[in-house]
Amino acid sequence: MNHTAPASPQPAKPGHPRSEAVAPVTTAPAAGQVAAIRTGHCQCGDIAYHVAGDPIDPHLCACPHDRRISGGPAVLWAGFPANSLRWTGPGGQSAWFSTWPTLHRGFCARCGTNLVSVDDTAPDIVMVTAGSLTDQTGTEPVGHSYREQTPPWAAFTLAPDPTDQAPQPSGAA
Ligand SMILES: [Zn+2]
Ligand SMILES: [Zn+2]
Repeated sequence: MNHTAPASPQPAKPGHPRSEAVAPVTTAPAAGQVAAIRTGHCQCGDIAYHVAGDPIDPHLCACPHDRRISGGPAVLWAGFPANSLRWTGPGGQSAWFSTWPTLHRGFCARCGTNLVSVDDTAPDIVMVTAGSLTDQTGTEPVGHSYREQTPPWAAFTLAPDPTDQAPQPSGAA
């Protein structure tokens, strides 16, 4: 078996900006805690990956892109340092589809499972689909993007969104 991981987890793109020197960790691990490796894989097993550390900003997103790629009401994303991503399955790196010029979704071309999302405007973090992780501990969502586009029947219990300090309008439908 070939265990050689590609040097970059991202698709080669002309002019794609990528800094290897930026410190990726935005949340400090608890004292004495070692950054644990987490594994994930697609439905068929061709595409597998690992990332390291605790989930960063786990959140649901109900944007139109994520409702399309999942075929569901939202996707639960969990962030990890981008430089910790390694492709470990027999299929190597995922296939890619850009749902926006700066937003690239990695998926298995064989079974269709969506695995990762790379945002050129936030290159330190790779978001992974929480459902593709083997260990989903700590991926309880702390936020919800595009919540106004969530189907009205969907009710999610969320912690307060740390980026939303404004009181909710009482008359909101
Ligand atoms: Zn697959
Ligand atoms: Zn989204």
